[in-house]
Amino acid sequence: MEQDQVSDNDFPTPSEFFLSVAMYEPYKWNDASFDKVLDLSKFTGSIDTYCVECKDRSLFVAEYPPISAVREDFHAKIQKPFICVIEAKCSRVKQHIACYVFRIHEKDGVTKIGQYPSAADAAKQELKNYRKVLNEEHQKGYTKALGLFSHGVGAGSIVYLRKIFEHLVEEAYQEARKDEVWMSTHGEAYPTLKMANKVATLEDFLPSDLVQHPRLYGFLSQGLHGRSEEECLKLFPMLRLAIEFILSQKLERLNAKQRREELEKLLNSTQA
Ligand SMILES: [Zn+2]
Repeated sequence: MEQDQVSDNDFPTPSEFFLSVAMYEPYKWNDASFDKVLDLSKFTGSIDTYCVECKDRSLFVAEYPPISAVREDFHAKIQKPFICVIEAKCSRVKQHIACYVFRIHEKDGVTKIGQYPSAADAAKQELKNYRKVLNEEHQKGYTKALGLFSHGVGAGSIVYLRKIFEHLVEEAYQEARKDEVWMSTHGEAYPTLKMANKVATLEDFLPSDLVQHPRLYGFLSQGLHGRSEEECLKLFPMLRLAIEFILSQKLERLNAKQRREELEKLLNSTQA
């Protein structure tokens, strides 16, 4: 039975509200998820994100909760829209601040209405990691996608991610073509296949977690026309994860290859 009601598991945690939730999207809570709203409004602890000033990943610490109201008082407070500001200090330099602003309203739910660093800035950290396995054009696309998504732009942000995803599948295909066994089984049919089936044939060349979720690619091959903004916003985090899966696997393989080569070099030099 499908219901619109948000279960406790679907309601974002404070960390998700800071780091992955789009702005201007209201999240309504129910009785089961109300504690998460309280957790957010009283947040203290650490936030792991990019520091614009350090130009590196940092741990930001929020020492003081934005409000100290007890449950009943909090209920009273949010009868009118309540603006909740969470400020955290960079653990390297206390003057570096990360800041997240939420509008909390009993009727409308929780809406993120501001953040610093921006989602695009925060993405720079991830991109630093993936620079070795993603070309510059797609790095820019990735940053743009995250920036658009964080401002609640659904279809626009998906377009960039889809390009990256297709590029990565194409790379896997180019690798597969060098494999004789693969070529004799799939080579001929591949160009005519839909995205979901393409991904399935590339199971040895893509992360296994990906291949098991054909619904995602079904969505991609149907195109974005006629898709609502809301559907696109829902698809975005899945597609982003799918891309990160592929990139981190590529990176792992590249690092392993480099270590192997390094080792061989050392072994050869000691033999001499
Ligand atoms: Zn810093």
